[in-house]
Amino acid sequence: MNLESVISVEGLGRRFGSTWALKDLGFEVLRGEVLGLIGPNGAGKTTTLRILAGSLSPTRGRVRVMGLDQGAATLRVKQRIGYMPENVPIHPDLKVREYLVFRARLRGIPARDRKVRISSVMAVLDLHSVEGKLLGHLSRGYRQRVGLAAILLNDPPVLILDEPTIGLDPGQILQFRERILELKARHSILISSHILSEVEKVCDRVLILRRGRRVVLDEPSRLPERIGISATIHLEAHGDPSAIEAQLSRHDEIEDVRREETEEEEDWNRYLIRSRAATALEIVGESVHTAGGIVRVLRRDYPDLEEVFHRILDREGDS
Ligand code: ATP
Repeated sequence: MNLESVISVEGLGRRFGSTWALKDLGFEVLRGEVLGLIGPNGAGKTTTLRILAGSLSPTRGRVRVMGLDQGAATLRVKQRIGYMPENVPIHPDLKVREYLVFRARLRGIPARDRKVRISSVMAVLDLHSVEGKLLGHLSRGYRQRVGLAAILLNDPPVLILDEPTIGLDPGQILQFRERILELKARHSILISSHILSEVEKVCDRVLILRRGRRVVLDEPSRLPERIGISATIHLEAHGDPSAIEAQLSRHDEIEDVRREETEEEEDWNRYLIRSRAATALEIVGESVHTAGGIVRVLRRDYPDLEEVFHRILDREGDS
C-alpha cells in the first residue's frame, strides 16, 4: 500500500447546541485503503462522514481531501468524493436510468459523456437488467446498488459510505463485500458500519469511535494486541505432557494452558494456551523443544473484531 494520505483530519470537533458530538478527532485515510469507522449509536460516525463529505461544517478542526482544504475548497473537494448517506434519497417515481441521468446532471457531467458514464457504472454494478424499473419497485439491495452507481458517475477517487449494508440480507451483504473489494482497486474508501464482522473482512484498518473520540485505529488483526486481549494458541505436540506443561509454566507470558484429551493417537496431545505476548509462538515452540517434544501444529487465533469491540466498550465502561 502506498502510504500517501487522501484524507487527513486534525483536531476535528462538532458541537450541536451544548453537546460535543465530536471531540478532537484526528486520523488519515490512506490511498487505496478501505478504512472502517465503527462505534456504538451516537458515537459520531455519521457526523464525521458528513463533515468529510462537505455537507456539514465542523465547529473546530481541519479536514484536507487530496491536499485541498475542506471549507476553503468545498466544491472542488465534493468533486473528489462520492458520498452515500445512510438513507439513500429515494425518488420512487423515477426509473433507474432516469435517476442516473438526473444524478449525472447534478454532478456536472457534460451531456456528451453522460451516456458512456451511465453505461459504465451500470455495468460495474450489474444494473442493466433493472434500468427500466421504477426505483420505488426495487429491493433494498438493488436500491443500494443504484445509490452506489450514482456516486461512481464522475469516478471520484474517494468514496464515503455511511452504513451501506443496513437492511441488506446476508446474500446481498456478501455481494456488497465483493463489490467493495473490486472498487478498492480504483478508490480509497471510508465506510461506517455496525456489522463488525463485515468491517473485519473488508477493511484494511479500523477506527473505533466512542462518544465522539477516537479509541483506537489499527489493522483488524492488530486490535486485540493493541488493547491487550489474549490470543489463543493451538498446539499439537508429541512428548511427555507434564514435562511440556512444566516448561510452559516457567514463562510469565503464558497465562493459561489447557490440555485436551485425544484418544486417536497415543502420545500426541492438543493444548489450548492463552497469551497476549507478541512472542508467544516462539515461547511455546521452545518450551516443547526443551521438554524433548515435537511440534505438529502451532497456530495463533485472535478473537474476532466483535469481541474486541465489546471488550473495548466494557473497558471504557460503556456497556
Ligand atoms: P448511529 O450509529 O446511531 O447512526 P452515529 O455514530 O452515526 O450514530 P451521529 O449520528 O454522528 O452518531 O451522532 C453523534 C451525536 O450527535 C449524537 O449524540 C446525536 O444525537 C448528535 N447529533 C447528530 N446530528 C445532530 C443534529 N443535527 N442536531 C443535534 N444533535 C445531533
